[in-house]
Amino acid sequence: MPTQTVLVPPRRADSIGDMSEQTIALVTGANKGIGYEIAAGLGALGWSVGVGARDEERREAAVAKLRAAGVDAFGVPLDVTDDASVTAAAGLIEQRNGRLDVLVNNAGITGGPAQQPTTADLATVRTVMETNVIGVIRVTNALLPLLRRSAAPRIVNMSSSVGSLTRQSGPGGELTTGPVAVAYSPSKTFLNAVTVQYARELRDTAILINAGCPGFVATDLNGFRGVRTPEQGAAIAIKLATLPDDGPSGGFFEDAGVVPW
Ligand code: NDP
Repeated sequence: MPTQTVLVPPRRADSIGDMSEQTIALVTGANKGIGYEIAAGLGALGWSVGVGARDEERREAAVAKLRAAGVDAFGVPLDVTDDASVTAAAGLIEQRNGRLDVLVNNAGITGGPAQQPTTADLATVRTVMETNVIGVIRVTNALLPLLRRSAAPRIVNMSSSVGSLTRQSGPGGELTTGPVAVAYSPSKTFLNAVTVQYARELRDTAILINAGCPGFVATDLNGFRGVRTPEQGAAIAIKLATLPDDGPSGGFFEDAGVVPW
């Protein structure tokens, strides 16, 4: 895949005649961190961006900040672990825009630092899977009918290289990729596998779905220990959200290129 961002023009809905040609995107967990910068980056392309966030105050603050920066942002109440919330979010976008062009499944949690497999707290494992994996399936399936109305739908799943089994189990330094974590790392491995299954089922559609790794980014997620800025972390998602029609699907990418499974 080329490493340069490919900017596609706003999408024309082919099935519903009078809909706006402005590209419509939804970013989950967009109130802060990488998600916020993905929303800002997509907004800078002139897109209309739904700021998916579960907390009203944080959501509205992010929407206001994005609007002040010139982004056509709108708030979407969204808890990815909650069926009713996700159904309502899809309903809001359907009513407001009639379709969705780009979905970025960015919301995620780590489940905290103590994740040695031998002493695992099973509730933590379940909670992380519910957010990072089931949540993505829940949101994707709720939005799919709206994505199918787009001429060039894109789905981006924010994964992590700590979900790469190759990097986790490889020789030498590769073994040090991220801490031992029985919930977070496997949740991203699972998410990568889920991404491939969607790509297989949707192979004969215009939908491209890929997983992206933002690198080690300074956010709340890691107590701001990351070495990259959220803006740098957002770049891979923006690239995968703006893939041309002949772009890849079912892949796993970081800025430098393909991440091994
Ligand atoms: P942050 O903790 O800064 O942001 C996470 C976002 O997800 C917040 O907006 C949070 O909302 C939201 N979120 C969490 N749970 C839910 C939920 N149930 N419903 C809706 N929103 C939810 O993390 P990052 O920006 O660092 O991470 C973004 C993504 O990038 C994650 O998927 C993460 O796994 C991935 N990633 C991050 C890396 C890093 O180094 N930072 C490295 C590799 C991958 P709230 O404010 O309400 O908690």
